[in-house]
Amino acid sequence: MNATDVMDLKIDRPTTDIDRAGERPRPLIDPFARAITYLRVSVTDRCDLRCVYCMAENMTFLPKADLLTLEELDRLCSAFVAKGVRKLRMTGGEPLVRRGVMTLFRSLSRHLQSGALDELTLTTNGTQLPKYAAELKDLGVRRINVSLDTLDADKFRAITRWGDLHKVLEGIDAAQAAGLQVKINAVALKGVNDDEIPSLLSWAHGRGMDLTLIEVMPLGDIGEERRIDQYLPLSMVRTRLSERFTLEDIDYRTGGPARFVRVKETGGRLGLITPLTHNFCESCNRVRLTCTGTLYMCLGQEDAADLRAPLRASETNDPLYAAIDEAIRHKPKGHDFVIDRRHKRPALGRHMSVTGG
Ligand code: SAM
Ligand code: SF4
Repeated sequence: MNATDVMDLKIDRPTTDIDRAGERPRPLIDPFARAITYLRVSVTDRCDLRCVYCMAENMTFLPKADLLTLEELDRLCSAFVAKGVRKLRMTGGEPLVRRGVMTLFRSLSRHLQSGALDELTLTTNGTQLPKYAAELKDLGVRRINVSLDTLDADKFRAITRWGDLHKVLEGIDAAQAAGLQVKINAVALKGVNDDEIPSLLSWAHGRGMDLTLIEVMPLGDIGEERRIDQYLPLSMVRTRLSERFTLEDIDYRTGGPARFVRVKETGGRLGLITPLTHNFCESCNRVRLTCTGTLYMCLGQEDAADLRAPLRASETNDPLYAAIDEAIRHKPKGHDFVIDRRHKRPALGRHMSVTGG
């Protein structure tokens, strides 16, 4: 066990402004009048899988010593809660492979109890859910996103490079048995799972789970794979699905970029996240924190601010609040992703697992 691991095992929680009644700093409003109320936190860049659209097979991960400790992540998240963030999503990499991550959930759950936070949640590949689902539910997590692109075990192994579909299905069973509401996220991949989307939809809805489809985004070097070969516009998927299902536009929103339709035949909801065919930035309410304390104002832009230095500079949160305010002043209007044959390189060098998908 190294020094980081030892520190990670227990959170000796510092008192933050959110713990002291009546001392709320200013809320976060960006230059385009969008209130920032949603923080996604990549608690680790590591993962037990290597999905072909997300990572190269031989990824170099951050040295453990570069990671913020769980205490520091707690303090940063709590500073955002004090500044009006109402929803926290833990992601990664695979959030449930970070050692001691449940102590972070446990500590952050105090903001649910105090009413300062509406939702504490996570996006996971599901492999560790048999171990953690019940504890997550006990800590106040209500809904989770599980990423699953196929129900075919061989395809699953090919997409994730070595994953075992059975483990993920067990994880979903455990989550539902614990009373967690599960939403399935699937990346639409040309020639890989496009033929399977109708059955994935029927399966998810049959188990009372919403399904959200995501267009592949040009983030990070993925080795030999080519985005243009993976990219499948959801406008096409929707047209094909309409031949089999009746899709009715509905107003339902989760505070995220997905637009939802109701599938008349199943009664379930289908979400569509279309960063490429339809830009979703105008209503963006979120920022993203990496496991090293870098705040990204947009998934698809380079604008970033270092919060680790102000965090470590002082035991009080004032320098941190000032750095957060300054960062939000630079939140860009939106991204400009494009995938075509002329753009052979990723739009951005960093992987989704760094910024937190
Ligand atoms: N490991 C967890 C998981 O897979 O759910 C959380 C992190 S993962 C980066 C979050 C989401 O990002 C997953 O649903 C994954 O499918 C998606 N993702 C990763 N790389 C992507 C890319 N290049 N384009 C679109 N979605 C991507
Ligand atoms: Fe891991 Fe999630 Fe990326 Fe797949 S999408 S490699 S599970 S971080």
